[in-house]
Amino acid sequence: MSAAEVTQSLRDGLVLGETLGSGAFGVVLRGRLPRALVPTDAQYLLHDPMQPVLEVAVKTIQANASEQSHNEFIEEARMVSQFNHPNVVRAIATLLEAEPHLCVLELLPYGDLRDVLKKSKKSNILWTESEFAYTLAQVASGLNYLESIRFVHRDIAARNCLVGHGLSVKISDFGLSRLLAQDTDYYRMEHKGRLPVKWMAPECLNYRTFTHQSDVWSFGVLAWETFSYGASPYGSMAGREILAVVEAGSRLERPENCPLNLFAMVQACWEMNPQARPRFAALSSYFTNLSVNQPVRDIGALL
Ligand code: ADP
Repeated sequence: MSAAEVTQSLRDGLVLGETLGSGAFGVVLRGRLPRALVPTDAQYLLHDPMQPVLEVAVKTIQANASEQSHNEFIEEARMVSQFNHPNVVRAIATLLEAEPHLCVLELLPYGDLRDVLKKSKKSNILWTESEFAYTLAQVASGLNYLESIRFVHRDIAARNCLVGHGLSVKISDFGLSRLLAQDTDYYRMEHKGRLPVKWMAPECLNYRTFTHQSDVWSFGVLAWETFSYGASPYGSMAGREILAVVEAGSRLERPENCPLNLFAMVQACWEMNPQARPRFAALSSYFTNLSVNQPVRDIGALL
């Protein structure tokens, strides 16, 4: 079969279902892909050999979106299809040859991490230290992988991680991600768009330079959100105020569920000097060591 025929049979065979959420470009739908159409490199997602269909998530773009949005959607879909790591959401297929443009992703049935944390608190399902550590180990490991292939994510936050079975956590939402050019170790933003100020390192806010070490700062804020069950960092403080207090040396306070030793590692992510912050490799081993061989519950299934 030619590539065009493969794409056509994927389009024909994909069954779209209910809405999972809405993203920057359009809705994300639940979908079902017949077993025979699952590409070889995604067949490992079919756990049971008798499973007739693979449940997927399908990102769509609104029909009336601008040409720029269409181009950004295509760029993001192509970028996600290059990634190959257990803690980064996998693209199963990208259908971009005709409209509607679709991006078929592995399904993470429990939604985003912030939501799972908030629901846990509401349902009084308190996480153990190893469940917190396991979550952070997975995010750090996904980011360590992205660093190894020179991607700066630029929008690391609990809302941009998705939760699956067995408390598996994967990085998603690559709308702001950039591949660093060969000869540089930073990305300079040219246009002022909407920015996740509460998660951004001071050098990003001041000089618009984004590096792996500025992603580390955001990872620290994600860790704070995790231990706070999805609370909003800095409460209702405005963006400009946050930069001023951070530059004056203030930092987010230790959430009551975060043990002192773990918080020391989280705080290190908020060193003013980017080089003084821990690297993702170190963060990944630190949190992995705290969670390895420890029991974790399938928290999404409990909610
Ligand atoms: P955008 O990047 O365009 O803002 P997102 O990737 O954040 O869109 O997706 C929006 C919402 O759709 C998410 O918050 C989540 O609820 C749902 N979603 C996205 N991808 C998946 C997925 N792979 N599995 C399950 N739900 C998903």
